[in-house]
Amino acid sequence: MSTPTADSVAGQAVKAADRAHVFHSWSAQALIDPLAVAGAEGSYFWDYDGNRYLDFSSQLVNTNIGHQHPKVVAAIQAKAAQLCTIAPGFAEESRSEAARLIAERTPGDLDKIFFTNGGAEANENAIRMARLHTGRHKVLSTYRSYHGATANAIALTGDPRRWANEAGVSGVVHFWGPYPYRSNFHAENEAQECERALAHLEQTVAFEGPGTVAAIILETVVGTAGILVPPAGYLAGVREICDRYGIVFILDEVMAGFGRTGAWFAADHWGITPDLLTFAKGVNSGYLPLGGVAISGAIAETFAQKAFPGGLTYSGHPLACASAVATINTMAEEGIVENAKLIGETVLGPGLRELAERHPSVGEVRGLGVFWALDLVKDRETREPLVPYNAAGADNAPMAQLAAACKQRGLWPFTNMNRFHVVPPCNITAEEAKTGLAVLDEVLTLTD
Ligand code: PLP
Repeated sequence: MSTPTADSVAGQAVKAADRAHVFHSWSAQALIDPLAVAGAEGSYFWDYDGNRYLDFSSQLVNTNIGHQHPKVVAAIQAKAAQLCTIAPGFAEESRSEAARLIAERTPGDLDKIFFTNGGAEANENAIRMARLHTGRHKVLSTYRSYHGATANAIALTGDPRRWANEAGVSGVVHFWGPYPYRSNFHAENEAQECERALAHLEQTVAFEGPGTVAAIILETVVGTAGILVPPAGYLAGVREICDRYGIVFILDEVMAGFGRTGAWFAADHWGITPDLLTFAKGVNSGYLPLGGVAISGAIAETFAQKAFPGGLTYSGHPLACASAVATINTMAEEGIVENAKLIGETVLGPGLRELAERHPSVGEVRGLGVFWALDLVKDRETREPLVPYNAAGADNAPMAQLAAACKQRGLWPFTNMNRFHVVPPCNITAEEAKTGLAVLDEVLTLTD
């Protein structure tokens, strides 16, 4: 492991230039204080003052094989020496190989891969394919979701980041997905939640007009909006509804895919094959921008004789694809997907449940693999969230304090609303995971 060396002066210069010229995502520019990062390795990154952080966020839940994996770094370097770029219209070795490796791992007949630069673009193109394939316009998505920040993707997103982007695009309809802990359907158990959520979805389709609905898009396991693992039978039920009405089923695996849930794709846990599956992030551990859509045989056939009217200058970029090839091969060689499963079953799952026994502010622990959330509450009986929905400023103080306390103790957290998400790299060691849990144990006293 490289050791961070302190160089505060260099760090201050990086920060000053950042504050002068970098316009940050999702932020009030004058109110932020970004950490200047000097380097990273494995499950850790560090700043210019020599402070090391155990990355329990995997950045934006994308460094699935950790930071600076030498095999992926070497693959990018080798590709850069051979061919930095070539337009999407050419056949290129890294692109073909990445597509093959992805198609081999996606479920069912999702055998054609359209490459994008990230998750939002993947969803944009999946929606375009669904509309052209069905000749219909509407797309249904859940209120508890995040699908990206481009026009259709943000309109489909349920979380409040949608609000400022409205009026959105036409043809977007939201519905409620299952969330047994805070049921919209007054369900008393998971089976009831599943049944009622499916009835609600079918009714939504009926009232929207089945012949107008092109697609239903779901995150297989909802990520940013709460790490919501679907109850048994839900995804199969959605698949049936889609089949009944000729609707394209899109699974967004941008966050859940490539090992995060302890399987190559989260859909594998339920044996579901969507018509389109979107991916990004973990496909190459975020080392270069890459995403894509895995396409079923039937939808690929729609564009066999007529042109697909979509494309991107950097689609299937050789450097990004070379990093995906190296990432996927490394995950297979080093058993990283299996590691995510094992860490979830033997360390994170039991460890987080143990924390819940000791800390009354933990209302629910849920997740799988290296994809967990603590749903924090003011009161376990009423399940009132620790902070109100979309809280900011003073209202969000308990969550801000929790995050700050983690950072002071060398743990980089991922918090969202009233939740603490535990989303470390898929190749985190048991020892590192336990180190993070020990910090969490300490800081949760702040919210109890
Ligand atoms: N879909 C899901 C489920 C995501 O979690 C994200 C990003 O967090 C996106 C789509 C958007 O991906 P990107 O930021 O690469 O456009």
